[in-house]
Amino acid sequence: MTFAATVLTLYPEMFPGPLGLSIAGRALADRLWSLETRNIRDFATDKHRSVDDTPAGGGAGMVLRPDVLAAALDSVSDADEPRRPMIALTPRGQPLTQARVRELASGPGAILLCGRFEGFDERIFEGRDLEPISIGDYVLSGGELGAMVLLDACVRLLPGVMGAASSGEEESFEQGLLEYPHYTRPVTWEGRTIPEVLRSGDHARIAAWRHERASEDTRLRRPDLIERHGGASQAPPSGARHEDEGQDQ
Ligand code: SAH
Repeated sequence: MTFAATVLTLYPEMFPGPLGLSIAGRALADRLWSLETRNIRDFATDKHRSVDDTPAGGGAGMVLRPDVLAAALDSVSDADEPRRPMIALTPRGQPLTQARVRELASGPGAILLCGRFEGFDERIFEGRDLEPISIGDYVLSGGELGAMVLLDACVRLLPGVMGAASSGEEESFEQGLLEYPHYTRPVTWEGRTIPEVLRSGDHARIAAWRHERASEDTRLRRPDLIERHGGASQAPPSGARHEDEGQDQ
């Protein structure tokens, strides 16, 4: 089964964009995943092909019409087998997490709805089984970059896309922790030397140091991760992940 992505957007020419390069691009060329776009405007019904209208109750901007959005979504979902989750990119959604990315990456793919202007008529969330997802607490001008972020995060986890090491359990967010810091040659750069422990060859000491740094940096930069994970970052550096440790959040 190939991870299949369908993106509904007013700007299909933005794709594959960065998803056509590097790891995601190679995986796309190797057919480890597929990408289809549909233009929301193709589902407009009036002679001006309008997809938006003014907000009820007044205010700035334009709102995407639910009838046009539904027609676009239905054009994909009516024949969708196996059924893929339908996701709307919106700052009003649940923040995307590595845990959700992993779930999505292990499934058949996703149908992604990208907003523009002021966003979607709220009734589309009631009328269709749409999961609202945000990629962070800031406002973009469109959902396309959000869709790319979500797809990039999923694709790198697909079997065969990256080496086992890189998609492993030590990466940031996998255990409620940020990853430990990395170093490479030269050993001394501008008077700064790679920590001695990393050059010691003592794997137990290295694992302990890395765990310590991961915990410390997470405490300093992202105390919210530790809280969400129930303090699991205090676990000893066994080098292996414990059975009772879930994924983040
Ligand atoms: N008026 C809306 C913002 C609209 S921004 C609000 O204040 O909530 C236009 C579109 O960009 C949105 O419909 C959405 O698809 C996309 N977008 C903006 N910020 C986003 C974010 N943080 N995560 C995901 N999509 C986002």
